[in-house]
Amino acid sequence: MDNLNPNDLSAIVEADRAHIWHHLLPHKQFETTDPRIIVEGKGMRVWDQNGKEHLDGVSGGVWTVNVGYGRVEIADAVHAQLVKMNYFAQTAGSIPGSQFAEKLISKMPGLTRVYYANSGSEANEKAFKMVRQISARHHGGKKYKILYRHRDYHGTTIACLSAGGQEQRNAQYGPFTPGFVAVPHCLEYRAHEQGLAGDDYGVRAADAIEEVILREGPDTIGALCLEPVTAGGGVIVPPKGYWERVQEICTKYDILLHIDEVVCGVGRTGTWFGYQHYGVKPDFVTMAKGVASGYAAISCCVTSERVFEMFKDDPTDPLHFFRDISTFGGCTSGPAAALANIKIIEDEGLLENTTRMGEYMLDQLAALQEKHAVIGHVRGKGLFLGAELVADRTTKEPADEKKVQAVVADCMQQGVIIGATNRSVPGYNNTLCFSPALISTKDDLNQIADAVDKALTRVF
Ligand code: PLP
Repeated sequence: MDNLNPNDLSAIVEADRAHIWHHLLPHKQFETTDPRIIVEGKGMRVWDQNGKEHLDGVSGGVWTVNVGYGRVEIADAVHAQLVKMNYFAQTAGSIPGSQFAEKLISKMPGLTRVYYANSGSEANEKAFKMVRQISARHHGGKKYKILYRHRDYHGTTIACLSAGGQEQRNAQYGPFTPGFVAVPHCLEYRAHEQGLAGDDYGVRAADAIEEVILREGPDTIGALCLEPVTAGGGVIVPPKGYWERVQEICTKYDILLHIDEVVCGVGRTGTWFGYQHYGVKPDFVTMAKGVASGYAAISCCVTSERVFEMFKDDPTDPLHFFRDISTFGGCTSGPAAALANIKIIEDEGLLENTTRMGEYMLDQLAALQEKHAVIGHVRGKGLFLGAELVADRTTKEPADEKKVQAVVADCMQQGVIIGATNRSVPGYNNTLCFSPALISTKDDLNQIADAVDKALTRVF
């Protein structure tokens, strides 16, 4: 049988309907609607099977295509590398592996080692395993617990879900791995629901982590794993004083700090990494999506030399090294794409653009908030923004989830793709999410704001 003709888009749609199991979607809808096929992308825009143009306000749906679509220089770099040397297990090194690691480390003072893998979940699993092994080797197996935060997400595997603070993502996938313990979220807009409203919320939200540590026993806690700015849990920008206090607490109890930069990493918030806004010193930084902007699959677990050294102490012991491998961590396409990706960000000044355009977009959202009572709170860091919709500004009761989805659908009709908090934090699928590519211009952002304005007027 011949391959399907790539230009016969109705056959492509039918093959999708017959054979593709789409991520995150209830499939019943495809009995009455066509699945969406994205055929082409250029810059900030994509075209679907009907030739309809969409302005992509979420960088490939899940905060990934940071440098935009159609980057020939990345494709060329990957092509050149693949014809020279496509793969060898990471038991051996590679030229782009060394080149990218050196470049990456130059952006992350205090960290020295890059462990390659190929998804955000996998990078997080590497860090979890390292924490467990450090506990086994250096703390008699006692310091094995890993703290995670309510509303954060760290990935799709069973261990990552065990560290997942979004209840509905976990429902029906248990039982989970023991040894993961939740701490409270740090969304000041909802501090009243935690009984923490008032001055110095940031410090008190971090103190709530210390309470959990004291309750569990500090010598049982190996690591604290946090997103720098929570993504799918509602674009939660940490309050003033929060990170500084978190750092103090980790130092005080000798708890390793693992920062999950899978979304914020490589430019999204206007610095190379989200944690760099806050002056903290992580022991582990994991990253994936924006590392190669989706041109190749790559993730990294980056560690300090102190962590690395803890695996080197006793060469007479057969278990003294990290007994872990990621087959596709040896694909050279990943670091080749990542190197070209980072060069684009440098050459085109995209960190500066992200900061400037992020401020502009925040102003646009604030203007929408003046006009639409349904917008209870706007927040963001760089080109990573959210608008939380509420039924009532005084009680802050979340807006009806169906109406939030109707706003997203209305924007889609207008040719603008935006997102909403995933349906995983019960009661709080009420935040519109924006994460356009780092190349965004004011015209692009005006188009997004204009679509949201019209959608809110129609839906509420
Ligand atoms: N960490 C965060 C903060 C994420 O948002 C995600 C995915 O959305 C992951 C980890 C998991 O990444 P992946 O889907 O590449 O496994």
